[in-house]
Amino acid sequence: MKILVLGSGAREHAIVTALLAENADHEITVAPGNAGIAHDVPCVTTDILDPEAVAFLAEGLDVDLVVVGPEAPLVAGVADPLREMGIPVFGPNQAAAALEGSKTFAKRIMDEAGVPTGRAIKVSTLLDAETALDDYGAPYVIKADGLAAGKGVLVTHDRDAAVAHASHYLTQGSVLIEEFLDGQEVSLFMFADGHDVLPLSPAQDFKRLKDNDEGPNTGGMGAYSPLPWLADQFGSEVAFVTEVIETIALPTVRQLEAEGTPFQGLLYCGLILTSKGIRVIEFNARFGDPETQVVLPRLKTPLSELMLASAEGTLAGRPRPEFSDEAVVTVVLASENYPETPVTGRVLIGIDDANSIEGVHVTHAATAVSDGDLIATGGRVLSVVGRGADFAEARSRAYDGLAKIQLEGGQFRTDIAKKVVK
Ligand code: AMP
Repeated sequence: MKILVLGSGAREHAIVTALLAENADHEITVAPGNAGIAHDVPCVTTDILDPEAVAFLAEGLDVDLVVVGPEAPLVAGVADPLREMGIPVFGPNQAAAALEGSKTFAKRIMDEAGVPTGRAIKVSTLLDAETALDDYGAPYVIKADGLAAGKGVLVTHDRDAAVAHASHYLTQGSVLIEEFLDGQEVSLFMFADGHDVLPLSPAQDFKRLKDNDEGPNTGGMGAYSPLPWLADQFGSEVAFVTEVIETIALPTVRQLEAEGTPFQGLLYCGLILTSKGIRVIEFNARFGDPETQVVLPRLKTPLSELMLASAEGTLAGRPRPEFSDEAVVTVVLASENYPETPVTGRVLIGIDDANSIEGVHVTHAATAVSDGDLIATGGRVLSVVGRGADFAEARSRAYDGLAKIQLEGGQFRTDIAKKVVK
C-alpha cells in the first residue's frame, strides 16, 4: 500500500515501524517526520496544518491511505478535503475532531449519549471560576477548553494556583472546572469507522514529569501494556474492554453519527477507574503518545487493514484485533527544562548502541540531523521501548537501552512500570 503519515513524533515513528513490520513493501511517506523516521522511510516537508497543502501532497503521491498522527491537523480540518476527494483517511473530519479540540463539545456529547464522566462547569469569567472551584473543593481540576498541547489541565490542592491557571486560560476562551476523580488511569484506543468500533489493548501512561507522580503534567513520560491488574478488577481484560465499548465508545460514536459528524479514526478513551465505576477523563481523536509505542508492538492483526477499514466504514463483522502476550515498556527521554522551556540543540549519542540490545528499539520524537550530529530539537526527544516475556525483562531492557543514550540535562522517570514487576 502507498501510505502518507502526517506527524513528527515518537507516535508516528511507532506507527511507521508497525506498518513496516507488517509489510516491508508498503510505500510510506511521512510529512514532516524526524531524524529517526527519515532513517526508515522518505520524509517530505509540507505544512500539515494546511488542508489544501496536505490534499495536494496526497493526490500527488497517489496514496491509498492517509494517516493523521497528531491532533492539531485534525482540528485544523486536514481530513475533510481528503474525504471529499475520495482518498481514504484515518482520522476524523474537523467537526468530529472537536471531541478532542473542545472539552465542552466532548462533555455535551457524553451528556447526550449517557457516557459516565466527571461533573463539570463551563466558566467564562474569573468570578464564576472561583465560585465553581469553591463548589467542588480541593483537589481542584481546571481544564482549558481548547487544545493546549498537554498543558491545559491542572490538578492541584493550591487554590491560588487553581485561580491563576483558570485566569491564564480564560484569556484564550472558556475554562472547565471539573470534579476530582480518584483512581487508576487507563488509556484504551478504539478503531472507529463512524458506526462501529474495534478495541486495541489497554495501556497506562505516566503524565507527571517526576517519579512517584510528582512534578507538572507533561505529554507523557512513559507507558506500559498490557495491564495485568485489570483482570483482578474486571475478571479479564476482555471483560473490561467490553464494558468500555458498551458504555463509552459505542454510545459516543453513535451520538456523533446521529448528529451528522461521524468519527472515523482513532478514538482514544482516557479513563479513570473510580470506586463508583469507569469514568471518562478525556477523549482524544488520535493515537496517544507514548501509549502507541507500547500497544502497537503487541498488535498481531495488520495495522493498515484496520486503519483502512476505519477509513472506509467496514469494521462491522471483523474480529477484534489480536495482541501478543509480551510485556512492553517505554521510557521517554526529555530535554532539560521540559515541559516549561526545553533546551534544544544538544547532541544525542548512543542510539545505535541502545538499538543493538535484544528487545530494545528507540522511537524518535524531537530529533534532527545537524552538521552530521543527531540533535534534540524539542521537549520529548525520544522514547526507548523494551519488549520482553514479562515486565521484569521488558523494563530492564528499556532502562538498559536508555543507559546507553547521552543527552546533557536529559530527564526521565525511573519508576515506569515498576509496580507491575513481580
Ligand atoms: P487530560 O489532559 O485531560 O488527559 O488530563 C491530564 C491529566 O490530568 C490526566 O491524565 C489525569 O491524571 C488528570 N486529570 C484530568 N481530569 C481529572 C479529574 N477530573 N480528576 C482527577 N485527575 C484528572
